[in-house]
Amino acid sequence: MNAEEILAKLVSFPVLGGESNLTIIHWIKDYLAEHGVEGVLVPNEEGTKASLHCRIGPAVDGGVILSGHTDVVPVEGQEWTSEPFTLTDKQDGLLYARGSCDMKGFAACCLEALPDMVKADLKKPIYFAFSYDEEIGCLAAPDLVKAINDYYQEKPQFAIIGEPSMMIPTIGQKGICLFETRVTGSEGHSSRIKQEVSAIHESMRLILWLENKMDSLIGAGRTDDRFTPNHTSIHIGRIEGGIAPNVIAQECNFTWDVRTIPSETPQEVFEEFEQYCREREAELRKVYPGFSITTSNIHPAVPGLDTHQDQAIVGLTQRLAECDDLDAVSYAAEAGQFAEGGFEAIICGPGDIAQAHRADEFVSKEQLDWGVRFMNNLIKELS
Ligand SMILES: [Zn+2]
Repeated sequence: MNAEEILAKLVSFPVLGGESNLTIIHWIKDYLAEHGVEGVLVPNEEGTKASLHCRIGPAVDGGVILSGHTDVVPVEGQEWTSEPFTLTDKQDGLLYARGSCDMKGFAACCLEALPDMVKADLKKPIYFAFSYDEEIGCLAAPDLVKAINDYYQEKPQFAIIGEPSMMIPTIGQKGICLFETRVTGSEGHSSRIKQEVSAIHESMRLILWLENKMDSLIGAGRTDDRFTPNHTSIHIGRIEGGIAPNVIAQECNFTWDVRTIPSETPQEVFEEFEQYCREREAELRKVYPGFSITTSNIHPAVPGLDTHQDQAIVGLTQRLAECDDLDAVSYAAEAGQFAEGGFEAIICGPGDIAQAHRADEFVSKEQLDWGVRFMNNLIKELS
C-alpha cells in the first residue's frame, strides 16, 4: 500500500480524542504483523484505549523514534463539503479528510516505508510510537514514553514527532496548562450588593488580575521571539455564573489556559494567583464568612519543547527533511513529553497546522510525498 492508500484507511477510523482508539491501533498492529514486526500495546487502565510501540532493526543504542497520535478532533458544527472520514481527492492536489493533516499523514508515511525499513540493513533501529488522547491534552504520551524506556534495553536517542510543520524541523513548542477557578459568594437581592458578595463581580477581578499578570510578564521583557506571540499567554475561555439580573450570583466559575514559552513555568502564574485569591478571601470573608475561591488543574501540564540548535537531532532532521530552516510553534504537542523522557526531540511532519482542526482539513500530495522521502532518507541515514 502506498501512503495515500494507507492514509485513506487511517482516516476511515473516526477516533476522536477521549474515545476508544482500539480499532485504528489494532489495524496498525495487524499491518505491522503482516510485515513481520511486533507491535507492543500500552493500554490504559480500563483497556479501552492503547498506544503502540515497535522496533525495526537491531537492539542497539542511538535509534530514532517516529511518533504520532491516532485521535482527531470532532467535526460537529463544521461545514464540510466532503465526507470528513473518507479521504477525498478533488483533483486539486489536496487530500481532504479529518486527520489527513493532523496527523495521520505522517503515520501513513511511516507505514508506507515500513517494508523498506524491514528489508534495509539498518545499523541503528527505527521505532514507531503511536498514542491516543493527544487532542484532549496530550494525555497518553507520558505513559508511552515510560513504556518505551522500560521495554527496550537499548536507549533510543531521538524522537521525531510528526505534527504538521510543512516538513520544517521545529525545535520549540510552548507548554500548556489548563485551570478551572470556582468562586462561591452569597446569594441575595441585587440591591444588597454592598451587603453580599457577588461571585461574578469577584470573578471579574480575578480575570483582570490574570490579564494584568500576562501584561506584566511582557512588560518585564520575558519574551522569546521564536514564538508568535512571543510571550506566555493567559486566556480565559469559558465563564459561567449567575441566574438573573436582579439576583446576586452565588456561584461563578471560569476556565483558563497558560501557554508558556520554554523559559517560563505555569507554576509561577498559578502560585501568585493563589496568593492573590487568599488575600481576596481574607478580605471578603469579613462580609460573608462562606466566601471561597478554589482553582484546580483540569489536566496535567504539557511541557514545552526547547531543543537547541547544536543538538544532533537538529542536523539529522534537517538532512532527512532536506530543509535548512528551523521553526517554533505555539501549539501544544507531545514533543516536550518525549524530551522529558530523555530523548532529543523535534517536530517535523507533512501538512500545515493552519489546515488542522477545521472544516475541509487537507494534506497536499506534495507534502505527503515529501514525508515519504523523509522516511527513505532516514533508512539511508541509518543503513
Ligand atoms: Zn496533532
